[in-house]
Amino acid sequence: MTRRSPDSDERAIVPEGVSPRRAAATFAASLSFENVERRYGETLALDNVSLSIAPGEVVCLLGPSGCGKTTLLRLAAGIERPTGGRVLINGQEVAGPSRFKPPEERSVGLMFQDFALFPHLTIIDNVAFGLKALPKREAEREARAMLTRVGLAHMSEAYPHVLSGGQQQRVALARAMVPRPAVMLMDEPFSGLDVQLRDSMQEETLALLRETRATSVIVTHHPEEAMRLADRIAVLRRGRIVQAGTAEELYDHPCELFVARLFSEINEIAYRAGGGVIETPIGRVAAPGVAEGDVAILGLRERGIRVVSAGQGLPGRVLHAKFLGDIAFLEVGVQGFEAPLRVRTHEGRMRLKGSEVGIEVDVSRALVFPAAGGEV
Ligand code: ATP
Repeated sequence: MTRRSPDSDERAIVPEGVSPRRAAATFAASLSFENVERRYGETLALDNVSLSIAPGEVVCLLGPSGCGKTTLLRLAAGIERPTGGRVLINGQEVAGPSRFKPPEERSVGLMFQDFALFPHLTIIDNVAFGLKALPKREAEREARAMLTRVGLAHMSEAYPHVLSGGQQQRVALARAMVPRPAVMLMDEPFSGLDVQLRDSMQEETLALLRETRATSVIVTHHPEEAMRLADRIAVLRRGRIVQAGTAEELYDHPCELFVARLFSEINEIAYRAGGGVIETPIGRVAAPGVAEGDVAILGLRERGIRVVSAGQGLPGRVLHAKFLGDIAFLEVGVQGFEAPLRVRTHEGRMRLKGSEVGIEVDVSRALVFPAAGGEV
């Protein structure tokens, strides 16, 4: 059997002309999880997870607390070992039944929610920390260049405690990126920032990831953040990937009610299916995958319901109206529906409680799921 030298995988991602003593220059690598399982005693944190991430792709792991996002990231990093399946970087097994590569041999960069800067080191030393393989002067030069890139060269000699949250985030990013990892793993990197800062830091971070072509996995709780950052989003629930796809695919064609709920507020109305359809006040809607006589859930997006003048569409009456700035939130009693429909509309200002309105819904945009798919 041919044994690979311990460095052979790294060499595969170091471009020609780069000395092995230097940190590996970014050379996008693929990252794959094959039937990965991770048990903690009785808890199955990851259950048969398979996901292939292309070189240079940015993937967000999205899902509720405890669904296994961080565990998957830690397996990619080499901080945890899988109890089943394999993790591969550039097609080489880095964790599996026959092999385990420690984090420092994987060319991965890690960034955590709390930034984890070293309080006793200056900013430049924090950034240079990951460049131990380089001579000190060279490490400092690279660290300074990266600090300049994130706009913090003037803070090089400061200590982390004098930095704002956004600045600390930039330092953490610079520290993780300066060794030019092939794979960048980020665990809720923006959750410590206030809302105003978050938007600009997301933009900056994404620009840097694109520039370096690092294959990136970003853990987040926030669907909007995932949509903004990711080429592809993998939705997890209870240790399994429920659906993976582009933001558009997940929004337009969610495979389950659970996924649909992540991306929009929806009205959920139960109907019994017959002949592959459900009969609803907005018309007949196809109910694929719902057995004859079983309950299907009709999902109508709150923002997908139009409020028009009385006399058009389905007759309705505004039961409740709340001004929310750009939009209004209405509850409208609509003919044919037992419960009021919740509606978010730009047309809401003129709709006062008690007014008669018309309601229009695009049937082709209605979502239908088997009733059991919505369980969380
Ligand atoms: P959050 O968004 O809250 O960080 P998460 O989706 O990242 O959650 P994980 O941290 O991956 O979820 O945890 C998945 C499951 O594995 C949870 O049930 C958690 O309690 C369990 N778990 C994670 N790490 C350990 C551990 N070291 N020992 C025991 N159980 C663990």
